Amino acid sequence: AKRRGRNTWQMFNPVLARNLSDRLLIESQLRRALENGEFHLEYQPTIELATNRIVAAEALLRWNNRHLGRIGPAAFIPHAENSGDIVPIGAWVIREACRQLRAWRNAGLPVLRIATNVSYRQFLNESLAETVRAALNEFDIAGASLELEMTERVLIDDIPDTQDTLAALRGFGVCLTIDDFGEGYSALNYLRRLPIDGIKISHTFMQGIPTHRADSAICDAIIRIAQGLGLSVTAEGVENEDQQRFLVDRGTPLAQGHLFSQPLPAAAFAEFFTQWNTRRPE
Ligand code: C2E
Ligand code: CA
Ligand code: CA
Repeated sequence: AKRRGRNTWQMFNPVLARNLSDRLLIESQLRRALENGEFHLEYQPTIELATNRIVAAEALLRWNNRHLGRIGPAAFIPHAENSGDIVPIGAWVIREACRQLRAWRNAGLPVLRIATNVSYRQFLNESLAETVRAALNEFDIAGASLELEMTERVLIDDIPDTQDTLAALRGFGVCLTIDDFGEGYSALNYLRRLPIDGIKISHTFMQGIPTHRADSAICDAIIRIAQGLGLSVTAEGVENEDQQRFLVDRGTPLAQGHLFSQPLPAAAFAEFFTQWNTRRPE
């Protein structure tokens, strides 16, 4: 099967910045998007494969702009990283995810953990640990209920003070996860150097499972390395039962993907969560 490229692998039609004017339009609209309330989050359930229960939600950023329409994060986050706007936007994401988790819990929904994506750019700004501390505090959330997903770039770019920031986050009890594992530089030595709790296997490897030999071998190896290091593993982009079986056979603890659910608006997630977790008691 032919692989889909990075840009087609998303729910929304990307508005690609093909030329400078597109880029300037996106960047100028992005600058005011936060104050105009144009962002919201959608939540994708994470399934614990051994129990078939939803144990967490990953928050994914959505942008709906008056001129540009609905724009997928892959199309606008690189611009927000370039301009630095990702720092306040990313802080909003963390606070909004914590607010939502508190709201769910107050409504009696036992969501254990919420995950947000954090850009390498947020590590260049010294406020990340303080942003997280303030959000946890404001909504009375234990650090262990928040997971921060970062790409390998954060660890390999050697950003000054990253170690201190990670240590501070760890000090709050926050879970730290490497997103898109295997997609980037994949230097393995940082896995033992840094205070990481888990990895997420890039969806790009999931697509070829179980028929594509190289994808299967790579997934297999990643799962074993993670297990050997005592790290948790989440397989993302799980779309069919063959893939699920492959993961279960190898003892992969966690999975996400369209087989279970697409990312959902908060109210729909709450409904899905209740239905799923009562339909399948332990
Ligand atoms: P990601 O963190 O790897 O998120 C998973 C992406 O895969 C999401 O796309 C999700 O909708 C999609 N997806 C989930 N399950 C499946 C599946 O089974 N099949 C297929 N084909 N796709 C699936 P989305 O929401 O468009 O996000 C794209 C990327 O944008 C994310 O990739 C993440 O890197 C970035 N992103 C999203 N929200 C944020 C954010 O708040 N901050 C930052 N810095 N980046 C974000
Ligand atoms: Ca992610
Ligand atoms: Ca990912």
